[in-house]
Amino acid sequence: MSLVHLLLFFGLVIAASSTPGSRLILREIADQKDRAVELNTSNFDSVLKDTPAKYAVVEFFAHWCPACRNYKPHYEKVARLFNGPDAIHPGIVLMTRVDCALKTNTKLCDKFSVSHYPMLFWGPPTKFVSATWEPQKDKSEILVIDDGRTADRLLNWINKQIDSSYALDDQNFENEHALSNHTDYNQISQAVYDVEEATAEAFDIILLQKAIKSSETSASFIRFIQLLAAHHLSRRCRKGAAEILVNYDDLCPSGNCSYEKSGGKDTLGNFPICGKDVPRGYYMFCRGSKNDTRGFSCGLWVLMHSLSVRVEDGESQFAFTAICDFVNNFFMCDECRLHFNDMCLSVKTPFKKARDFVLWVWSTHNKVNERLMKDEASLGTGDPKFPKIIWPPKELCPLCYLSSKSIEWDHDHVYNFLKNYYGPKLVSLYKEKSVIGSNEETVPATEDLTVATNALVVPIGAALAIAIASCAFGALACYWRTQQKNRKPRRSWN
Ligand code: FAD
Repeated sequence: MSLVHLLLFFGLVIAASSTPGSRLILREIADQKDRAVELNTSNFDSVLKDTPAKYAVVEFFAHWCPACRNYKPHYEKVARLFNGPDAIHPGIVLMTRVDCALKTNTKLCDKFSVSHYPMLFWGPPTKFVSATWEPQKDKSEILVIDDGRTADRLLNWINKQIDSSYALDDQNFENEHALSNHTDYNQISQAVYDVEEATAEAFDIILLQKAIKSSETSASFIRFIQLLAAHHLSRRCRKGAAEILVNYDDLCPSGNCSYEKSGGKDTLGNFPICGKDVPRGYYMFCRGSKNDTRGFSCGLWVLMHSLSVRVEDGESQFAFTAICDFVNNFFMCDECRLHFNDMCLSVKTPFKKARDFVLWVWSTHNKVNERLMKDEASLGTGDPKFPKIIWPPKELCPLCYLSSKSIEWDHDHVYNFLKNYYGPKLVSLYKEKSVIGSNEETVPATEDLTVATNALVVPIGAALAIAIASCAFGALACYWRTQQKNRKPRRSWN
């Protein structure tokens, strides 16, 4: 079945899970990998610009150098504390390395006046972007690490810089940076990383589970990817989603997807949905105070809210179906899936207004919160720093409440609050840092894709939005757009 046909059927899928099990699968795979992030000329600026970490260490080395080979286990020991899915102190220091023996990296190493191997630099990640460094002359915030010959010494040096007391044998997931204040309106801007992370993690789970198993799941996958291509807040995820759509027929001929991540073949695994640097292995806004709480499922909720506030009236039913099907087909937490599906099935009238859809996602999330409040209190399974609450609390949105004594909502205010919170506020940091790939222009993260699709009846509206978005992503996407234009408009997906 061709992509066009599948689009006409408008079915699609995603798999995701909040279960520790799925995270463990990802971790097991990640365990085989080095934790220090390999940088090169083409990804150096983008990775360092994009990282949520406050500090970076860049090791310049040469793969032929015996001292570098001996140093690697020391460097990796420190990297394991900070990088990767099992990091004890994630998101604080990004540990990276550049192989100067590769010809393609020569200019990059020259820019940092690399005089010996290994040579280590320290600084805020963004200070490395488009930077040069010269001994003596340099007044930037980039420092040479002059005492990092062993793992212990390197960690001591880092501890001195940031006034911390990390130890190589730290065992407990300490999250001193957890954003535990539910009432700080600005914190949501950190969640922009989590939305990318959850999207990429969901996609990886689909790959690992080989979850596109039937025409129903295939259709569900396409529908969700369409929604992401049109309305994901991150340009690189929109781009990745559009590329998957364009290539879907080759990646999944007759619904039989190939999932491998290697060999330069046309496989889903070779199309990382948010680029190859995501998932990073940790969450920011959604980071729990324990290592088995929050994370993916929190990121997924934020993704769903952020999608809901970006769709137009005419797309609201399509978005509703895409999200319900996604959770039902790919969220591998059975209890979550079943409860959520019940709430989807209880909607009897198709959505016509985006406002109703935004409020539906919000109230559905609150129903889950309400149930979990009791469960977590009796079982002690919640995150002590993030108890479930009926949301938003008064401190965050006083106007959302009609009465100061009880929970009676002013739905107009709730809607306005959600639109702003999961709209411009969520992407404010993203715009500030321009958290996108190196050779992409600055993204007006939401506005550029919220085309006036409401004049069209969904799914045409959604398809057109994707098509317009896709054109920004190159000739292949335009080819897909041409296919879209050539097909007959369909006024209903039922
Ligand atoms: P989350 O509930 O994940 O919320 C993330 C953030 O969203 C919060 O920090 C807050 O800033 C914001 N928020 C909270 N409530 C709202 C709201 N009403 N509207 C808008 N924003 C809000 N777990 C179970 O144990 N059983 C289940 O049945 C279950 N069902 C789930 C169904 C779905 C579709 C999803 C995505 C997750 C489900 N989970 C379930 C997981 C659970 O809802 C939480 O995601 C998880 O416990 C982590 O909670 P959290 O503290 O990070 O906050």
